[in-house]
Amino acid sequence: MAATLTSDVEIHELRAQLQATAWRHIVVLTGAGISVASGLPTYRGPGGLWTRPDIEEVPDAAMLARDPARIWTLFGPLRGSILTAAPNPAHLALADWEARSPETTSFTLLTQNVDGLHGRAGSRNIVELHGALLRTRCCNPACTLSPFEDTAEHPAPPLCTVCGQPLRPDITLFDEPLPVDAEWAAKKALRECELFLAIGTSGTVAPASNFVRGAKYAGARTLLVNLTPMQPRHPDFDIEVLGRAERVLPLLLGAAS
Ligand SMILES: [Zn+2]
Repeated sequence: MAATLTSDVEIHELRAQLQATAWRHIVVLTGAGISVASGLPTYRGPGGLWTRPDIEEVPDAAMLARDPARIWTLFGPLRGSILTAAPNPAHLALADWEARSPETTSFTLLTQNVDGLHGRAGSRNIVELHGALLRTRCCNPACTLSPFEDTAEHPAPPLCTVCGQPLRPDITLFDEPLPVDAEWAAKKALRECELFLAIGTSGTVAPASNFVRGAKYAGARTLLVNLTPMQPRHPDFDIEVLGRAERVLPLLLGAAS
């Protein structure tokens, strides 16, 4: 039966256990919950972006094909929010943990977030499962235009300078597959994973539910840090730590004092 921890004392105890082991392969998965303290909305949770009453349909591949302007109307303003947001103590604790890890430890940070805050916090080995909102690419998969950094909100969809098709934010929309390179990197990291930590994401829906299964199959110790308890519990998580990521992670991952 998996344990649920909530108090500072319990989290400190777990920190001591984690620090007593020389992990060779660490995989972290983060979701929208880690960026809430930076002022960014979650997508699907209570108050989330795609549950707002003024948004009638979720942005998916069909919407992009039918009406690229609508995609920019939804995501363009989020670029402004991301630019003014700053990494919070949870992002910083992860970056610090990676920096303190021995060179012989492989550390892979998988993120479902498109906000780029892990990179700004100083994390290095990041796999962006859903792309990056501050990047733009061409809609045409055969086009030779490389994705490029772009902070403009684009009230009207910009057109590609190479092929003339509309450009799009370089993010994974609902019902689109994960980028091939990101999915490959995630699978590779999970195959040798010894410690798996999911943060700010429900443990019961994909990709966390699949990733924890993969990590468990590889023999990893598995932890979930989230604000709300898993419903129902995923059997492959050993430990669930309940609390806000920006409170829990500095306690759990901070250097021993
Ligand atoms: Zn193009």
